[in-house]
Amino acid sequence: MKPAKIRLFVEHPLGEGQSVPLERPQAHYLFGVMRLSVGDAVALFNGRDGEWQAEVVEAGKRGGVLTCQAQSGEQRNPPDLWLMFAPIKKARTDFIVEKSAEMGASTICPVQTEFTNSERIRQDRLQAHAVEAAEQCGGTYVPEVKGLARLDRVLAGWPDGRQLMFCDEALAGGASALPSGLAGQPWAILIGPEGGFSDTERKRLSELEFAHPVALGPRILRADTAAVAAMTLWQTQLGDWQ
Ligand code: SAH
Repeated sequence: MKPAKIRLFVEHPLGEGQSVPLERPQAHYLFGVMRLSVGDAVALFNGRDGEWQAEVVEAGKRGGVLTCQAQSGEQRNPPDLWLMFAPIKKARTDFIVEKSAEMGASTICPVQTEFTNSERIRQDRLQAHAVEAAEQCGGTYVPEVKGLARLDRVLAGWPDGRQLMFCDEALAGGASALPSGLAGQPWAILIGPEGGFSDTERKRLSELEFAHPVALGPRILRADTAAVAAMTLWQTQLGDWQ
């Protein structure tokens, strides 16, 4: 059997000899779109059991079955990092979700701020983008996309021990160092909408001891660029790029 070119996320448990039934859209993708057939290889991961090489044993239009043969990668989970962002236009929001999965966010939390442009998100579509990004980037973990929540409520119910990297455009050109003593702790990154943060939000955030305001260089970045830049900065200083 040739090594698998296709990686597929499944919910099913994975292990040696394990049969994995396919759902209809997965069967359509593998056999209808990618033209795989019985005997072909697929790499599977489920977010818990690492990556497995599997073989197609049944291929149909509406379903199919794969059998796991050998583990080809360990389970690797990203650091405990939430990416909180205020939804923007659809294509740019999709971009943020895709890049968050690639950059190793563990949870993606859309938040509504005072100047948020978008009142609604399609959580299922965004989750599907996160799955696709994990499939293509070789990850064995898919971040969960949460429902849209109001920033003030999220801050009011903030979990003990989680730090917050507050990306504040008002600090552009200032310091971007994160407290190194807080590596290994749970963190969150907060990115504002196109309109930025309101004075009330900025004041509220400055009073929170878990919030660490940072600048992302001397220029004002668009929210999607800022999300990638912030994750790069965090992964380099405190996360799994070290
Ligand atoms: N309209 C605002 C900019 C918003 S940019 C203005 O003109 O001031 C969108 C988000 O990206 C910001 O809320 C912030 O979270 C982040 N961001 C962009 N550039 C930044 C910078 N240089 N430093 C810190 N955060 C930045």
